[in-house]
Amino acid sequence: MKVGYVALIGRPNVGKSTLLNTLLGQKVAIISDKPQTTRISLLGIKTTEKGQIIFIDNPGIHKPLHTLNKRMMSFVHSALQTSDLICLLIDATQPFGHGDEFVIETLKKVTTPLFLLINKVDIVKKDRILLIIDKYKDLLSFKEIIPVSALKGTNLDVLEKQIYEYLPEAEKLYDDETVSDQSLRFMLAEIIREKLLKRVEKELPFVTAVLVEKIEERAAGEKATAPWDITEKSEKPREFISSSGLSSLSPESVRPSVPKMDISGDKKQTRKLTYVSATIIVERDNHRKIVIGRHGQVIKEIGIDARREIEQLIDSKVFLDLTVKVRERWRDSPEVLDLIEGQK
Ligand code: GDP
Ligand code: MG
Repeated sequence: MKVGYVALIGRPNVGKSTLLNTLLGQKVAIISDKPQTTRISLLGIKTTEKGQIIFIDNPGIHKPLHTLNKRMMSFVHSALQTSDLICLLIDATQPFGHGDEFVIETLKKVTTPLFLLINKVDIVKKDRILLIIDKYKDLLSFKEIIPVSALKGTNLDVLEKQIYEYLPEAEKLYDDETVSDQSLRFMLAEIIREKLLKRVEKELPFVTAVLVEKIEERAAGEKATAPWDITEKSEKPREFISSSGLSSLSPESVRPSVPKMDISGDKKQTRKLTYVSATIIVERDNHRKIVIGRHGQVIKEIGIDARREIEQLIDSKVFLDLTVKVRERWRDSPEVLDLIEGQK
């Protein structure tokens, strides 16, 4: 058996998380066209007859300004140290710039075997790929240079074959069924954040975070306590996240997704119902207003979208209770960052 860690490394937005999902054939990481979507490294595990490849998806390499970003970069550095092979991804559609130089400088310090993956070849011309190869081939010593499309799956069979050439002989580290190291709680938080990123203004991606506070399962026939009645609801997060309240909104507008409890058929009667409550953290009151939208329209859409995906993931009807809170400068608050990371 060949078993080892493969770090997916590159600037924000080059397609690392997309590549991970396509390689695994299922979604384990959220995707967005906004930079800095991935904040915490996560594992995607692919087991085949040949062995087990443990991919490490990482935040994009960038110069850190906030404590959040410093932590993001520390994930990158530990992935670089842990891995048996590093795949540097670049975006074929983007010109070479300072950000790329910074990545090259970061990788000059490591001695781990390195592949260059030129991504997004589905939307560039062939001669552009040749120019990129020419530019990169002497910048670092690459074992392989492979043009790929993470989105379309182009050349990923070649990539996988080449990866196995560089992995050590070892025993499997995970069960065959395991595909990721994330908790359900973290996955739900990430799904909500992905839907949030889809809808909010350009500058917001950096200033939002999601904390899932409660996941509670019930048989659909069981008399349900509405989540807003749950007395022990308040856990740690609420103690210090300054409450800015949602008093101006009617309950409907902040509880976007109340599934109808249809208990007519036998099958439906036994179908689970899961309550999920989550807090979206933003930095300012005007951010909060953007996330909520006019008459609560934006948060309602985020909720519907997230609920649908969560329902598929956990095969249960879902009641999603979303709240938006302002926590100034949370990106520099170790306690908030601990909570967010603690979900994983
Ligand atoms: P990350 O920040 O490196 O993890 O990048 P993501 O995986 O979140 O992808 C960033 C954006 O690039 C998303 O909009 C993806 O849909 C898009 N993308 C990723 N891979 C490809 C690809 O192979 N082709 C095209 N056309 N778009 C891609
Ligand atoms: Mg990512």
